Amino acid sequence: METNTNIDWANLSFGYMKTDYNVRCTYKDGKWGEIEVSESEHLNIHIAATCLHYGQEIFEGMKAFRGKDGKIRIFRMDENAKRIQRSANGIMMAPIPEDLFSEMVKKVVKLNERFIPPYGSGASLYIRPLEIGMTAQVGVKPATEYTFLIFVTPVGPYFKEGFKPTKVAIYREYDRAAPCGTGRWKVGGNYAASLSAGERAKSEGYSAVLYLDPKEKKYIDECGPANFFAIKDGVYITPKSGSILPSVTNMSLQQIAKDLGIEVECRPIEITELTECQEAAECGTAAVATPISRIDDVEAGKSYTFGSDDEAGPVTTQLYNRLRAIQLGDEPDTHNWVTIVE
Ligand SMILES: *Cc1c(COP(=O)(O)O)cnc(C)c1O
Repeated sequence: METNTNIDWANLSFGYMKTDYNVRCTYKDGKWGEIEVSESEHLNIHIAATCLHYGQEIFEGMKAFRGKDGKIRIFRMDENAKRIQRSANGIMMAPIPEDLFSEMVKKVVKLNERFIPPYGSGASLYIRPLEIGMTAQVGVKPATEYTFLIFVTPVGPYFKEGFKPTKVAIYREYDRAAPCGTGRWKVGGNYAASLSAGERAKSEGYSAVLYLDPKEKKYIDECGPANFFAIKDGVYITPKSGSILPSVTNMSLQQIAKDLGIEVECRPIEITELTECQEAAECGTAAVATPISRIDDVEAGKSYTFGSDDEAGPVTTQLYNRLRAIQLGDEPDTHNWVTIVE
């Protein structure tokens, strides 16, 4: 297939760009219908739909890559399929069957093949599945009709700095999730809850907000759109908490760490423990792993620093390189994480 020669692949931002097609499926009368292919960038939604009033919206994010061998690889699609089912059950929406999810992902990637950035560009095709409640009602209860759709868009790195250390802020006056709330599901509302702190962080020169556990404000939870890990005396430590979103990237980095003989601990991490860590990073599909050189606990007037300001630490670098290599097909996919789209 021809490639789209008008796109400046090396300078893509993490933004939206129109592609050729999206795919959609409707849940109605207790079942999912046929997959529809659409060229429209718009949806026709009833003004009383539950997604507009009561936040019945869940989403996913994953990437497809073009390898040196020219093949298209989608990373850990099955984990995203399982996670969107948990999110659906979490806020009483119709779960999407796993095989329907993967069929639609493969289809939308293939249909937009000319938007997959070439190998070596550092860019990738971002895949955004979302589900919304469509039933027109004013009473607070789950919808009976749902739309599930997937669009794709080519993206560059999430942080324009690339794989360079960033600073993050802890603000004790904001939470993104409640202790027994929706933090463990990929719900749009969690992002609404994080906007205010996120904009403040940006205006104060930070790349992201690092949230503490909403109950005691004693343990580290995660960053707004990414999980957190640190390297403490050669051990990969990452928070265990009921209010964080289980990141597929984090899960993968933990496995890679184990493969490399690095010990992994998933447990509550007290903020004070940061003083004993040599490296820190945030991880997620968008950013892969972004090293953190400094965490400012703003209201507490404390700072924690890790390694150098302009270079990632050795363990973070090793994990990052291995994950990228598997995604691109440069290293063997020993855990069967990759789906090749024919
Ligand atoms: C999506 C998301 C992540 C990252 O998850 P990945 O599966 O690695 O992309 C982390 N935290 C939150 C709150 C998220 O919504």
